[in-house]
Parts: sequence; C-alpha cells; structure tokens
Amino acid sequence: MTTPGIVITGASGRMGRMLVAEVLASDACRLVGALERPGHDWIGRDLGEAMGGAPIGVIVSDDPVGTIARAQAVIDFTSPAATVAFAELTAQARAVHVIGTTGLSPDDLGKIAAAARHAPIIRAGNMSLGVNLLLGLTRRVAAALGPDWDIEIVEAHHRMKVDAPSGTALMLGEAAAEGRGATLDDLRTPAREGMTGARIPGSIGFAAIRGGDVVGEHDVIFAGPGERVVLRHLATDRAIFARGALRAALWGQDKGPGEYDMADVLGL
Ligand code: NAP
Repeated sequence: MTTPGIVITGASGRMGRMLVAEVLASDACRLVGALERPGHDWIGRDLGEAMGGAPIGVIVSDDPVGTIARAQAVIDFTSPAATVAFAELTAQARAVHVIGTTGLSPDDLGKIAAAARHAPIIRAGNMSLGVNLLLGLTRRVAAALGPDWDIEIVEAHHRMKVDAPSGTALMLGEAAAEGRGATLDDLRTPAREGMTGARIPGSIGFAAIRGGDVVGEHDVIFAGPGERVVLRHLATDRAIFARGALRAALWGQDKGPGEYDMADVLGL
C-alpha cells in the first residue's frame, strides 16, 4: 500500500516551511506538491533548493487544480481567501483538507462547511496537544467557578501576526463560555479602549500583545474576589502545530465527509 500523498499550500510561509520539514521527515506519507501564489519567486523551482537545501524533486507550483488533484491530503496554513478556494478544490479531489488558517469569517466558515459535505475537513485554530488539553481544562474550570469569577484571555504573538484576538484565544473564550452554558457571542466583551465603563458581569474579555518572534502564549485568567486562577500555555516551537497538522492529515485518511477538529484527532 502506498503512503498518502500530501500537498502543502503556502510552502514558503513560516508554517509552510515547518510543514514541509515534518512531511519530509515522516515515513507515513509522501510530499507530492507545494503551492505558492502566482508571481511568487519560488514558482517553478525545486522546493528543497528554494528552502536552501538539496533538491527533493518537488517543483513549487501556482496551479492549485493540477496539484491538489494528486493529493490524498492538503495541509493549508495560508490566508482566509486562499483557504476557502483550496477547500472547494480539495473537496472536488475527495482529499482530506487540514486547515490551520485563522481569521476565517462566518461567510468563509459557511463555504468550508459546504465543502465538507464532499470530503473530510479537519480545522483547528491551534493544532497543538497542549492547547487542545487547555481547552478542556478551561471548560471545566469555567463550569466549576461561578459567574463572580471574571474571565480574561490574554495572548501574545510575534510582530507579523495580522489578526487579533488569535484563533486560539477565541477557541479558549468559546470553551469558557460553554463551561458557563452560553456561547462566546453572548458573553464576549467588545475591545477595550478609552472610557469603557466598569466590567460587564459574567463577560469574557480579550487582550492581545504583539511583538518580536513570540510563537504563541495564552493565559486564561479566572479572577475572583481575593484570588486568581491562571491557566497558561506557552508555545516555544512552531513544529508542534506542524506535527499536529500532519497527524490530522493521516488520521483523516479513513474518515468520511464532514467537519472535524483536533479533539477528534487526539481522541480528547
Ligand atoms: P505566513 O508566514 O504569512 O505564511 C502564509 C503563506 O501562505 C505565505 O507563504 C503566503 O504567500 C501563502 N499564501 C497566501 N495566499 C496564497 C495562495 N492563494 N496560494 C498559495 N499560497 C498562498 O503565515 P504563517 O505564520 O505561516 O501563518 C499562516 C496561517 O496559519 C495564519 O492564519 C496563522 O494564524 C495560522 N496558524 C495557525 C496555527 C494552528 O495551529 N492552527 C499555528 C500557526 C499559525 P505570500 O507570502 O505570497 O502572501
């Protein structure tokens, strides 16, 4: 039996390079394609050479249709617009689509749900084991501590990150809201600036720090009268996301169409 063929989108990106390294190091799959957008200076070059190493026989392409047609799985950490387009093509190829891209709008999510009627889509704003454990803990602590414990989520990321709050922060907020029997839409505090007034009781607040090369840090703070509980995850190596994404691509090989997340993949 041949191992599944993987296509990496946005192969020159921070996560794209990590994903390429992870797939090349694995015996459980093969790298069968790498995509970049038209005009990118890696197009037409051998991917290994473009990354500064030895040739690997995979030419970077700007043709998603032809490239994705060869894939059993597409691992995609790009931009919302690109991811929505890749979801349709990946569904047409009946391949697994692993989506790490964050900042997807409700409209984008609707299009992804439509694509998932034809093939498995595994999407997570954070592919790490530690963060997915933290989600479960956040849900439990929010349920155990009453509404007089204020919930604040503070995240820090590198200076290049373009969206805020991070996808992980929003997932943590959703988990905390679920623990309180509500949705994040019900409880989310608007961004704070200027005369905000006092904190809305029972609300969930967010703060974002951007700077340097921080891979990703998340604190879920439960602030009660006279004491605080802080749940913290620190990511120090992007490889955790790439490893999780590859695990998801392999896990999805025998799954039917539908939307899945990392809790499904990790069996949490
Ligand atoms: P990045 O360094 O900017 O990489 C994105 C790559 O995608 C770039 O190479 C970009 O090319 C490429 N791209 C954009 N549109 C494309 C298209 N239409 N076709 C082909 N390639 C395209 O960003 P990053 O730090 O790797 O992050 C990417 C995404 O993953 C973000 O949404 C980030 O929040 C998310 N992320 C998720 C996790 C997780 O665990 N789920 C972890 C880390 C990051 P150009 O440079 O030409 O635009």
